[in-house]
Amino acid sequence: MRPVRSELRSRIFLAALAVTTVALLFVTLTMVGGIEPGARLRLVLVAAVALALSGVVAAVVSRAIAASVAARAAAIVEVARRYAQGELARPHADYGDDELGVAARAMDTAVQELGRRLNELRRDRARMEAILGSMVEGVLVVDEEGKVQLVNEAARRMLRLEQDALGRAYVEAIRHPGIVEQLDRARDGRQPDGLEFAPARDPGRTLVARVAPVVAAGRGAVLVLHDITDLKRADQVRRDFVANVSHELRTPLTAIKGYAEALIDEPDDAEARQRFLEIIHRHSTRMERLVKDLLRLARLDAGQEVLELAACDVENVVGGIIGDFEQTIAAKSLDVASRVAPEARTLVADPSKLHDVLRNLIENAVNYTPDRGGIEVEAALVDGAYQIVVRDTGPGIPPEDLGRVFERFYRVDKSRGRPGGTGLGLAIVRHLVELMAGEVRVENRASGGAMFTVRLPTRRPE
Ligand code: ADP
Repeated sequence: MRPVRSELRSRIFLAALAVTTVALLFVTLTMVGGIEPGARLRLVLVAAVALALSGVVAAVVSRAIAASVAARAAAIVEVARRYAQGELARPHADYGDDELGVAARAMDTAVQELGRRLNELRRDRARMEAILGSMVEGVLVVDEEGKVQLVNEAARRMLRLEQDALGRAYVEAIRHPGIVEQLDRARDGRQPDGLEFAPARDPGRTLVARVAPVVAAGRGAVLVLHDITDLKRADQVRRDFVANVSHELRTPLTAIKGYAEALIDEPDDAEARQRFLEIIHRHSTRMERLVKDLLRLARLDAGQEVLELAACDVENVVGGIIGDFEQTIAAKSLDVASRVAPEARTLVADPSKLHDVLRNLIENAVNYTPDRGGIEVEAALVDGAYQIVVRDTGPGIPPEDLGRVFERFYRVDKSRGRPGGTGLGLAIVRHLVELMAGEVRVENRASGGAMFTVRLPTRRPE
């Protein structure tokens, strides 16, 4: 280690002091009279020896002081080097109590304070990144130089940004001209008006982009993206539903009104009156059923139907339903068979909901299966669940409609829809099965005909 400057300075100072003292002594003695020359010489010698000794002592002391100062300075430099490398843990260095120590401690405190603030900043950043990362909305921040300063995962996904988008100019990173224009507007101090768009590579989705200037960051801007695909879809479903309800109600209402007017016009024709009254009755029954189904769906939607579990005798339930359709079954010469496996006799479920599910499925099978067709209802325990299958030998469901028959008012073929049907039966079935924590699916049998499978959890009786 090179001697520090203070050591050099102290040596020069000592040398100068010695030379000055000898010179002064010599001048003084020359000027003082009355002292014999021999005594003057001795005096000079004694003074010179004393001076030399004090010089040696001063040099040793100053060297020791300089060495200690140099060691402390080296320790301070080492601490500063560690700080510079980002190691901010407080060192156990002894800085001493002199000015050097005071200055070193002041530096240390300043660095520690800076380190604390840096840690706070890091924590804030980590917190912000966690929040942004968990957001469903896409967020992208542009700094005053027009570079992407921050982007969360949702925004990357929605805009399909490259991995290196961060730090790049937004005009290059974002390939959607509409969004770039919105950001331009915000950065130029013009009011961005929001943008609804479908991403080029995912046209089925609808996104809304909103941009706001970030005043604190000069010409910065923040872009927020909302995925409103589900909202749009729900809105469309609601509109279709209202249109369907109106249509379904209008058809029987028009008939009722027409035949009622005919009755008013020709009150005396007994035969016609009977026929008209029957038609009015049929249509009003259909309207009543439609309203009942709609109210039930509304109750299910609102979660107002509670589950009341009890042990159900499935064979009884199926037998009762088949009995209800006895007349139609006989009229169409249908071959209806039900098989309940011995271990599946009892099922813990909501009896009335189970009844409604099976009634809907069996009624459809009866209605859509042509004369002399066959219907099978089977219940068994399969793969740890209670499984009920209703299959028929009817026309089945076209493959492209399989995924939609559980939708409200969805009918494979309007003209094929049975006269009394509302198009809501399967929607209610799915709701009820899901309420019982089960699932329902439909497929076509290889030999022709539809096959509905209901799977329900097996519960222990309370
Ligand atoms: P609907 O009151 O019209 O029967 P559903 O919701 O019960 O209404 O059924 C929806 C549609 O699914 C029916 O219109 C029909 O096209 C089709 N469907 C239901 N069950 C069967 C089946 N067993 N065979 C053929 N098609 C069926």
